[in-house]
Amino acid sequence: MAAILVLLERRSGSLKASSLQAVSTARRLADATGDEVVALSLGAHAGQDADAAGQHGADRLLAVDDPSLDLYVPEIYAATVQKAAKETGADTILATGTSLGRDVSARACALLGTGLLSDVVELERAAGGALRGKRPVYSGKAFAWASIPAARPSMATLRPNVFPASAASPRPAKVEPFAAAAVPARAKVTRLETPAAQELDVAEASIVVSGGRGLKAPEHFSLVRDLAHALGGAVGASRAVVDAGWIPHAHQVGQTGKVVSPSLYVACGISGAIQHLAGMSSSKVIVAINKDAEAPIFKIATYGIVGDVFEVVPKLTEAVKKLRTG
Ligand SMILES: Cc1cc2nc3c(=O)[nH]c(=O)nc-3n(C[C@H](O)[C@H](O)[C@H](O)COP(=O)(O)OP(=O)(O)OC[C@H]3O[C@@H](n4cnc5c(N)ncnc54)[C@H](O)[C@@H]3O)c2cc1C
Repeated sequence: MAAILVLLERRSGSLKASSLQAVSTARRLADATGDEVVALSLGAHAGQDADAAGQHGADRLLAVDDPSLDLYVPEIYAATVQKAAKETGADTILATGTSLGRDVSARACALLGTGLLSDVVELERAAGGALRGKRPVYSGKAFAWASIPAARPSMATLRPNVFPASAASPRPAKVEPFAAAAVPARAKVTRLETPAAQELDVAEASIVVSGGRGLKAPEHFSLVRDLAHALGGAVGASRAVVDAGWIPHAHQVGQTGKVVSPSLYVACGISGAIQHLAGMSSSKVIVAINKDAEAPIFKIATYGIVGDVFEVVPKLTEAVKKLRTG
């Protein structure tokens, strides 16, 4: 029996939702082949992740219980993934397509001498056992299927919020203490600046409301915040307004910002430049509000409102608040 290894990712001690999506995906792949799913967690009290990992289909959890690994340490994380892959005999390794996942997966693949399917939106096992993934290319304008033929193990990073987190096959995940790889750390993350406590991360949220230059001035961004808060979602932004200093870069969606795939994406006064679409076109439902009926965002919108954000957005917020309280 082979194993599928899943690198879990934490933020402030809690498991990221995207990690549970990766565990569920591993379970789905493993069910077809009879493999076991082994999760790997690093940081203080890593064993605490066993409950959530087991709920989503992990058979075992390798716990590297070490507070010095609460923050990402590139060389140690990558070498520990390599060590865990070797010791479990994993033929597949999954990680999330986050900043950490992208960095560690490239390093781990280099150490393992194998290939990487990065930022996949579909993943399957092809005939002969090859790992096959579909990934966006040309800033999301097209998709390409790629596979890693006979390499063992093969690795993939999963675009967050595209794969469902399923608790359909829960089990008690056995916790096994695991030692981190003893390699020197040449780089170390010394501090993590998190957004204000009440602010959701756009990459993790299932609803994102974003604002662009159509809002005219930074003080009008409150319209976007009000709608986001009414919907219980996160606040996103186009690069134009981030560059103008209206909102920090952590909120930027797009090619040089974050890639999001929420259930609902609301674009307020955003034209829909290709670099913005690259970060949000895989959202399940897209609502665009723009006064220009020819704006490119309408080409990918599920629902389009041709109108003034200053009239439409407050009305939407009111309607949502009424629905929520009524
Ligand atoms: C290498 C590179 C990387 C980039 N990366 C990113 C990225 O990651 N993310 C990103 O977003 N961009 C990125 N860009 C920039 C991108 O090309 C666009 O310039 C940017 O997305 C435009 O932002 P915007 O839609 O807010 O502004 P604009 O393009 O100026 O659009 C404003 C829109 O608001 C509408 N509008 C105006 N007034 C109103 C109103 N009262 N009511 C309703 N609608 C109104 C207008 O019709 C217009 O469509 C990148 C560019 C390059 C070259």
